[in-house]
Amino acid sequence: MRKQTTLPTRYKPWILIAVIFATALSCSTRSDQANNPFPGYTWPLPELRFTSFFGETRGNHFHNGIDLSSHLESVYPVAPGTILFAWDKKRYPFANTPGMGNWTAILHGNQQISVYLHLDRIITNDQPRIGTEQPLGKSGNSGRSSGSHLHFSLYDPQKNSYLNPLEKLPQVRDDTKPQIRHLILERDGHKPVLIREKFSFHHQGSVILHASIQDHVSRNELHRNLGIYFLEIHINGEKKSSYRFDTIEIHPEGPQVNGKKFGDIFANKRYYYLTKAILPSGTHKITVIAEDLHKNRSEKEFLLTLNQ
Ligand SMILES: [Zn+2]
Repeated sequence: MRKQTTLPTRYKPWILIAVIFATALSCSTRSDQANNPFPGYTWPLPELRFTSFFGETRGNHFHNGIDLSSHLESVYPVAPGTILFAWDKKRYPFANTPGMGNWTAILHGNQQISVYLHLDRIITNDQPRIGTEQPLGKSGNSGRSSGSHLHFSLYDPQKNSYLNPLEKLPQVRDDTKPQIRHLILERDGHKPVLIREKFSFHHQGSVILHASIQDHVSRNELHRNLGIYFLEIHINGEKKSSYRFDTIEIHPEGPQVNGKKFGDIFANKRYYYLTKAILPSGTHKITVIAEDLHKNRSEKEFLLTLNQ
């Protein structure tokens, strides 16, 4: 029988493995099963230690799934389905899928495809059908992976889009707001400036603003660099831009979130791009609003004073 998804408990011997390999603490999903927004899916691992969310920057592309720290644990399909593809280097040494390691993709009845990367090994009985009680493989560190983890993606072929798995899988407990840390202000002829609260400067022409924002799902969690779900910026009360990381659409010119390419959202690799604006002299209120998928919301104001 498949193990129930549980909170980690210190008296279980296998927690040692979790403690060694976790870069984040787990959170329970069992008590949250009632809140499953998409009852067809269950989590692919018995314990959830998030190390990366959907839509995060990967330097030059969006992260198209979620990462769960895991080492040699059984990985289960999120719903019954048909194995579309399974590649295990030990069994098929001639094929090559750089980066993804040993991986498998499963087609579900609703025509969505779940994808599992970096597996240590694939376990299939060479039957195309697979149920949720049957492990599809063991988590591992194969392919382009810096630390043992499962990368999980959901893909919708009709929409040619990756979906945010957190919207489809049973809800996790998350009472921690995103942290809006600081702004980065760029202007011609000057080095970028880090702004924690307020900043006064002389300048003519446009300025570009980015924000450093991070989220996590538990107060005790070690990993605090999770991506956010929603971002909005206002200047003097007027909305300038917003992003919602619900889907990544695949286009010939590259993946897009809400019609925006990677470089439009992460112009400066580590920061969320907010806006480019020409500000008149005076003091301007910059309001940044960030939300995670569980409606935890942060709002922070910064004051920019332009002297001319
Ligand atoms: Zn990943």
